[in-house]
Amino acid sequence: MIARVTVDAAVNRLFDYLVPEPLRGRVVPGTRVRVPFGPRTVTGYVVEVGEDRSNRSDRTYDPPDLFGLDVAPRQLKSVLSIVGEHPFLTEPLLKLLQWLADYYCAPLEAAIRSALPAPVRATGARQKAQLFVEVVASQICQTGQPRPTPPTLTRRQAELLARIRQVKGGWAATLCREFKCTPELLRKLAAAGAIILESRPMRRDPMANRAVLPTQPLPLMPEQATAMEQVKALCDSPDPRPLLLLGVTNSGKTEVYLQGIAHVLAQGRGAIVLVPEIALTPQTVQRFAGRFGPQVAVLHSALSDGERYDEWHRIRTGEARVVVGPRSAVFAPVTRLGLIVVDEEHEPSYKQDEAPRYNARDVAVMRGRIEHCAVILGSATPAMESWHNAQRGKYALARMLRRVDDRPRPTVRIVDMRIEMARAGHVQVFSAALLDAIQDRLSQGEQVILFLNRRGYATSLQCPCCGYVATCEACDVAFTYHQADTCLRCHTCGDFQQVPAVCPGCSDPAFKYAGFGTQRVEAILHKCFPKAQVARMDADVTARRHSHDEILGAFRTGRTDILIGTQMIAKGLHFPSVTLVGVLAADMSLHRPDFRAGERTFQLLAQVSGRAGRGDIPGEVIIQTYTPAHPAVVAAETADFEAFSVAELADRRSGGFPPFARLVCLTLRGASAEKVAFVAGKLAERLKELTRGARPAAVENSGAGAPAPASAVDVSDAIPSPRAKAKGEFRYQILLRSVAVQNILDPLRRAMADAKLPADVLLAVDVDAVNIM
Ligand code: ADP
Ligand code: ZN
Repeated sequence: MIARVTVDAAVNRLFDYLVPEPLRGRVVPGTRVRVPFGPRTVTGYVVEVGEDRSNRSDRTYDPPDLFGLDVAPRQLKSVLSIVGEHPFLTEPLLKLLQWLADYYCAPLEAAIRSALPAPVRATGARQKAQLFVEVVASQICQTGQPRPTPPTLTRRQAELLARIRQVKGGWAATLCREFKCTPELLRKLAAAGAIILESRPMRRDPMANRAVLPTQPLPLMPEQATAMEQVKALCDSPDPRPLLLLGVTNSGKTEVYLQGIAHVLAQGRGAIVLVPEIALTPQTVQRFAGRFGPQVAVLHSALSDGERYDEWHRIRTGEARVVVGPRSAVFAPVTRLGLIVVDEEHEPSYKQDEAPRYNARDVAVMRGRIEHCAVILGSATPAMESWHNAQRGKYALARMLRRVDDRPRPTVRIVDMRIEMARAGHVQVFSAALLDAIQDRLSQGEQVILFLNRRGYATSLQCPCCGYVATCEACDVAFTYHQADTCLRCHTCGDFQQVPAVCPGCSDPAFKYAGFGTQRVEAILHKCFPKAQVARMDADVTARRHSHDEILGAFRTGRTDILIGTQMIAKGLHFPSVTLVGVLAADMSLHRPDFRAGERTFQLLAQVSGRAGRGDIPGEVIIQTYTPAHPAVVAAETADFEAFSVAELADRRSGGFPPFARLVCLTLRGASAEKVAFVAGKLAERLKELTRGARPAAVENSGAGAPAPASAVDVSDAIPSPRAKAKGEFRYQILLRSVAVQNILDPLRRAMADAKLPADVLLAVDVDAVNIM
């Protein structure tokens, strides 16, 4: 018997090993094994097992054909041992990862690494055992009267024993903390026979110390009920289509998810809920834990290693049947999977920005297909790709366009900042309309959220005399000035330095702070509303663990009046007494050199607006912009996704962009600009050669001429990336477009196989890229 193994030393190849007699039957696909590898012993995962070459199954992943070499199987080395009691990967998961590695052009080892949390992969990781104190049974009388204390105990020991009996034992560490005693004292009690001390596995529970209020299923609103019928039908179908749930903010999507999960749990199946990392707040987790209690496991990078290890194994053993987590939770080892929910399915954070560059939403759809389980993609502003799939029937569609209890949508006011600027004679952070509205809400005792997707104080530090701008040399971008620690920070590489005392260019001491970020807005608010409590939430203040919870907690309980924040506060938060939301600079995301700029802006505005008026008082949204006529801004006024999608899809179609074409973005980077440009140019040339003969996929002037052949690939020239330099490296990109992604992948793999990239030029392949910066 032979096992084909992917070894952890990332070599992008599979190796064959003999399975020795004693391990037969225990070595199955997904089993983790130790194998000899050159002079070393390494670990790896079994991908397939077979008796001989005729036993091989079809694979999408294409390893060198070792079975076909003239090496007789008996000359193969043997598997040394098995790691762990059970296989780390189930067969369907392994199949999913093989697809993923293939589709996203990444090594299988890298795909497996993404799927297994580091603490689980770490050899030697195991459950933690802790001392547990048990009250000796005979010490408690049937009548409930405590037995007399053993006479050998001191007074202090006797007191402690009485209290331990009262609480009927518990974890030693907890008792020591509560009763202010030492483990030594407990040991003495044990020696006297008054208690039993034993080592027990302790679950490291990320939800410990959080009060979770149990909730019951709510009677559904009509639209929810219709959506729920669809969800149930899909869950019961042997081969369901994914369902796109278009539900405006506050339409009660989560309740539909919860009842869908309850439905599959009742069938003895499990569920996975993906949420964007940013939305993975205790608030979100509690909504699931409140309904399903300890059946819920959380997978989150902010958990301690021990917590992640335990949570993963609780899922693996089936103790936890509902998993809530960010993108990597799509690989959670849930067996008998009944439902995957992808909340806020349009979120760019579902895309991993290192190899394998997978999109968890698309992986969820593929996992659903492999495991025949239902998939719900939920959003108020779906990605154009998903919307297009729903329009052409590839996905089922459910609409929930009314807010729960039919609360009115907040009124949206667009403020033209060009007029404000003309009036004031210079750039304004706040319009008069927004300042008035804030004043008004504060005087009513209501709360305000202000949104600005830029942290720091000023976007640049400039010398008014010579025009010098403080710039990060490694990235060629202006430093952002941070007032909190009076330093200049590069938002690309994180590098920072002190503000120079005088201009390095002309020695003038007077700097000008241009542009504004959240810190500056905070400072202005303090000046304008000295009595208001202002809090700021952005990556600079939430770096500390728990600070996130503290800031939101203070806001929820009304200790803060105004919350200013970046995209961190745009989603998922539910504060009933917020009645005003202000968007300070709606244009910021609009003018990026990215065909999705309009879509992103609309999504952001719709999402931010959804934070207003979640309680009984109608909400108001004020959007400040320099381009009030842009379709994304106009559509935000009515928050009409479908109206926006009509204009946006027409644009995409005429430009030949997704969802009407598939897009692969190649980025080459290296320290030498010339070398990167040269290598990128050669690669583009080679790709053009390999795809020649077919007309470009982009439909240039629709109507004229015959449509492009279905196999056509449009290969761009190698050009500097929009972010041309970062962290000291120069970046070039090549964009590949075609109607079918396979048209791109086949020549791309060939080009990558023959291209001998120099060691100092790195190539990143991004299939279905969402960020082309
Ligand atoms: P969404 O996820 O679509 O933004 P939520 O699921 O968060 O909406 O629901 C918004 C609020 O409405 C929540 O407080 C939720 O408890 C409540 N809610 C949802 N469905 C119902 C219902 N059928 N009846 C009463 N309240 C509901
Ligand atoms: Zn930098």
